[in-house]
Amino acid sequence: MAGVSGRHCLQPSWDPGQTIAQLSLSDLLSHGIRAAVIDVDRTLLPGRDVQLSGPVKAWLVDARQSLHLHLFSNNPSQRRISAVADQLEVGFTFGARKPHRAALRRVVADLNLPPECIAMVGDRLFTDVLGGNRLGLFTILVRPIASDGGPCTRDGIQRLERTLARWLGAPAA
Ligand SMILES: [Mg+2]
Repeated sequence: MAGVSGRHCLQPSWDPGQTIAQLSLSDLLSHGIRAAVIDVDRTLLPGRDVQLSGPVKAWLVDARQSLHLHLFSNNPSQRRISAVADQLEVGFTFGARKPHRAALRRVVADLNLPPECIAMVGDRLFTDVLGGNRLGLFTILVRPIASDGGPCTRDGIQRLERTLARWLGAPAA
């Protein structure tokens, strides 16, 4: 299953083994990244809470100075996703239906940037990475976040998805 770039469609462009709060902004900028489309559940917030942890909020506030940010969630609750986006004054999409392309295509068109300059950041291979790869975005698989902003120790879903992706021919991380 080859993606737009020839990479397997379940292989992230970057698999740093870090949470979003640990990602190096200077590395992203030196890659030519100019916008980030960011998953919400388990990428920015662990549970039902809408209050961002200190490290995650600090990263986003910092990132916002050099990148266009857009929150992009499959969560059907407009109230939840807008409550998060309002803390940052950034745009958002709820009920995005990743890995379907329609909603993501609209965000990419609005950003008006080449797809390889747009990072898709998320914790799930079969929604975030697959959806982003299908449009040729720079996909980043992050570790799920815990409530204190550190890495979540129970990332069974991501482990299972990595196993499934290898069965489907994606190279091991
Ligand atoms: Mg997620």
